[in-house]
Amino acid sequence: MRILVVEDEPRLLHNLTRALREEGYAVDNASDGREGLRKAQDADYNVILLDVMLPGLEGWEVLSELRRSKPTPVLMLTARDTTKDRIRGLDSGADDYLVKPFDLSELMARIRALIRRAAGSGSPILELPGLVRVDTRSRTVTRQEQTVLLTAREYAILEYLALHRGEVVSRTALYEHILDETDDTLSNLVDVHVFGIRKKLGHDLIVTRRGQGYCIPEGES
Ligand code: CA
Repeated sequence: MRILVVEDEPRLLHNLTRALREEGYAVDNASDGREGLRKAQDADYNVILLDVMLPGLEGWEVLSELRRSKPTPVLMLTARDTTKDRIRGLDSGADDYLVKPFDLSELMARIRALIRRAAGSGSPILELPGLVRVDTRSRTVTRQEQTVLLTAREYAILEYLALHRGEVVSRTALYEHILDETDDTLSNLVDVHVFGIRKKLGHDLIVTRRGQGYCIPEGES
């Protein structure tokens, strides 16, 4: 899952980026409104964290511009907590709203909820064929009730495919969602990670659609 953080306070931007990467997200960042808008329009993010008070272009303006073309889930970060701001946030198409200073674990929980909502999945636990369960809260995976250790990249790919179950996901889409702008990875790596997942969770879990990508088929859970 790939997240864009738009925040002009260097320390907060740095800390958020690091904390999100530790959670296994691919993270891009921007420190002013225009750069944030450009990145938000150019790439396909799973969630955007958007500060309200930004140089260049205010967070509200970034949001309304973005909403002309993209429904990406946006969580606004604001220093003020007033009813007027909340109403403005909801009217402008923000999906959630957090007042600074906020608790990191609350931020992470809200990000997970936004990702689930966008994928149309209410439950934090994803049940897959072969008695494979993905717990998106703890980012843990079990198979037949045994814990299976995945690398951060393997987990990211599995979670993305699981949240898009039944859809064929192209390699390009996987790259977009698991790598960030600091990554410089060889193009065959998605295949390597999928190989790793199959080795740990069973060869049939992820199906290859030749020339199109990968899919976890609908059906038995
Ligand atoms: Ca700010």
